[in-house]
This record gives sequence, structure tokens and C-alpha cells, in this order.
Amino acid sequence: MTTITRFAPSPTGTLHIGGVRTALFNYVYAKQNNGLFLIRIEDTDLERSTKEFEKNILDSLDSLGLSPDNEPVHQSERTELYLESAQHIINSGKAYYCNCSKVRLDEMRTSQQKAGQKPQYDGKCRDLNLAKSNDTVLRLKTPNSGEVVVNDLIRGDIVFENSELDDLILLRSDGTPTYHLCNVIDDYEQEVTTVIRGEDHISNTPRQIHIQQALEYPPLEYAHLPLVLGQDKKRLSKRHAATSLDEYQAMGYLNVSIINTLARLGWSRGENEVFNLDELIRDFDIKEVQKAGAIFDLSKLDWINSQHLSQLDEAAFKAELMPFIDNLNLDYSDYDQLDDLIEAMRSVKSNLSLIAEALIPYLDSFKEYDEKGVNKFLVGSEVTLTHVILMLESLDDWNEAIIDEHLAKLQEELELPTPKMNQPIRIALTGSTQSPSLGMTIKLMGKDKSINLLKKALDFLS
Ligand code: GLU
Repeated sequence: MTTITRFAPSPTGTLHIGGVRTALFNYVYAKQNNGLFLIRIEDTDLERSTKEFEKNILDSLDSLGLSPDNEPVHQSERTELYLESAQHIINSGKAYYCNCSKVRLDEMRTSQQKAGQKPQYDGKCRDLNLAKSNDTVLRLKTPNSGEVVVNDLIRGDIVFENSELDDLILLRSDGTPTYHLCNVIDDYEQEVTTVIRGEDHISNTPRQIHIQQALEYPPLEYAHLPLVLGQDKKRLSKRHAATSLDEYQAMGYLNVSIINTLARLGWSRGENEVFNLDELIRDFDIKEVQKAGAIFDLSKLDWINSQHLSQLDEAAFKAELMPFIDNLNLDYSDYDQLDDLIEAMRSVKSNLSLIAEALIPYLDSFKEYDEKGVNKFLVGSEVTLTHVILMLESLDDWNEAIIDEHLAKLQEELELPTPKMNQPIRIALTGSTQSPSLGMTIKLMGKDKSINLLKKALDFLS
């Protein structure tokens, strides 16, 4: 039997990184079993679902290389199918109409809660054989005794007592099908074999299995993935970090780094922390996914992104970086050392937007001096800067080694420790205390610009 997995997002927001992890594990599990990965848009909540969010989700998955093997299906277009299947359940006597009012249900719930019981429908209409009307919902006749077993690839068998489960509503009083009914019918119609989704769905699974059984569908295998948590072990939210995939892409994290980091949310592969999608497909084992919640750590993403960035050759790195440079509207048309600059700066930061920003002093001008750096190093450096200006003015050969050599000589003459010599120059040239080797920084900055910036720093000091 062909393994078929699916990702079933509700298009009520942009693609969340927890959703990317779910989609990724579905994709990987399908591919490593030579199966199919499908998408189903669960857009029955017409008020909250939008086409824009749907497009964001599908485009985001495509951008990561997690494209489905078939066109996505939409729940909003399949009502007829759901109603037909509901009719099957009615015909087989496994569902009943219920006209309990909201007031009665609320009172029941309150008194059950007061008595310390789990709130659930008491089955009042179960044997009344009521006819359908404008105020009836259709409920599933859930078995009163026995148990239902969820066959979970990560957690083993999870057993639920049927007595704990409600007579689930299948059709609302306006005749529309409920989420659980649609979900079960779609998995069957899409010939899904394996449902991989978040742990938050575990309690839905036994209910959905009852619907499957009422429809005489074959059983599915399940894998409930650990929740994605923030550092404080609460569910990851905007409070902790950006949650939307496109925010990470916009910050300049490579897709391969995002995939790598998300794969490691709940799964690890021994010592080897850096891998790409093909390697993940080769090595992933869903049975190794952990049960405990997985903490999303931005510093891990930074580290993994640095690793993947360092693996890119010069041309590939440049191709990745250019859109971020262009995004800053930097004019580099007159700058003839762009390739050298990019190579020198490629590892200064851990994402592409920050790397692009680090090029601003070279391609344009920095906004202001780093205040701490000014107080610590620039103040009192007038003599040093003046000497450096004179030295640079006298240089005819403009390359890193020569500049470094002259700086070293000057440092000796002025009898300065290295930070006292180098940091004022760095701040004068880049506004900050971080840059490549000083010879390289000055070479990349160019002679005129370097001298002008050093003079500007002197003006600033006076
Ligand atoms: N639409 C559900 C969600 O976004 C997914 C349901 C499922 O995977 O079965 O959480």
C-alpha cells in the first residue's frame, strides 16, 4: 500500500513555524516511504479563512521545496460529499438527531463541573428517534463501553475509554458538517494512510476513529508530534520569537537552515546537527521523535544558518545575499570591490539581512558611531588618527598586506597596545568596533573614503 500523508492547514493565518515542522515531517515520511504528500485546506471556518492566508501557506511550502504531489483540496468545496457520508451514518443507525437546547446543555455542563465530572452530553435524545428539524443537531452514537486504541508511531498505543467520549455532533442545526466529520471523510477520500499532526490533536483522534468506524473506513496510523515551545516551555507564540515562516525568510535564514532547525525540533540525528532535506529524508525515523515538547531556540537557528552559509561557494553566497543588499537600496554601481567585500564579510553575522546591513559603511555611510565604542576607544585617539591619515596619504600601493604592515610599524612607533591602535580606526571607518582585519577594512573602504572618514572622526572629537 502506498504511504500517503497530508498537511491540513486552516488558512486563518500565515504559515507558522510549528506548521512548517508538521508539513516537513509529513513530507519526509511520505518521501522516505516512496509515498505521496498531499495538502488539504481546512477552510470551513469561512469567517476566519482567507485566500491570502491560503496563498501564503502554499507559496511558503513551495519555497521550502515541500510541494504536494497533487493539487490541494478545499473543504469548503466538498460539502456535498460530507452530507452524503453523514447520510450513510444515519442510514446505518449510528447517529441520531438531538434537540437539546443550548440552555439545557449549559446547565448540564455546569452541574457536571460542580460535581467534579468531565462535562459531556448525557445522551438524553439518543434513543428518542427524533426527526430532523431546524433545531436538531446530528450526533454520533459513540459506544458507551469498551475502549478505542490510537496506534501512534511515536507514542505507541494510546487507549481511551469510550465512556469518556461524547456523542459528537456531526451536523449542526443549520445542516453544516462539523470539523471532525469533514476531517475524517477527507482523510479517507484522499486515501491518507498516515496522519502526522501536532500533539494538540490527540484528544480529537479517538473521536475521529469512532466516525471512521461508523463509516466503515480502514484504520489509519498516527503520529502526534511534540508541541513547539518557547524558552519558558510555554507554547511558542509571538511573545517568544517571530512565529511566521516568512519573517524568518525575510531575516535571511536559508530555507535549508529553517528545515534543518525545524527537523531538530523533536528529532535528532546523533552528533550530526547540520543536514539538508535529502539527508533528512535518508535518515529520519519517525519512531525516534521525542514525546516531550520541543523548545525552539533562536540561537540554534543562528548557529545552523551560519553552518549552511559557510557551505555555500562564493557565487552561491553572493546570489543569496544580493536581494538583501538590494532591499537596503544601497547603490554599489561605483564600488568596484563588491565581490571582495562580500567574501570578507560573509561570516560577520548569522543571517543575510544582518550581513547586508554590515555592508552599509562600505557601500554608503553608517548613521552614527557606536556610543560605547566612542567613549572607550575614540575619545583621546586624535594623535593616532592623525598619524594614520598621514600614513595612508603616503601609500601608493593599496592592498591589505601593505596597509597592515604600515599600521604595525606605526603602532610600534606610537607604542600603543593593539586595541588602542585599531579600535579608534575601526570606529572612525565603520562606526562600530567590529570589522574584518584592519588592512582589509581600509582596503575595502578605499583610500579617499578612509581618509575622509578618519578626518570626520577628528572633527567629531573636536
Ligand atoms: N486543520 C487542523 C489544524 O490546522 C489540522 C487537522 C489535522 O491535521 O488533522 O490544526
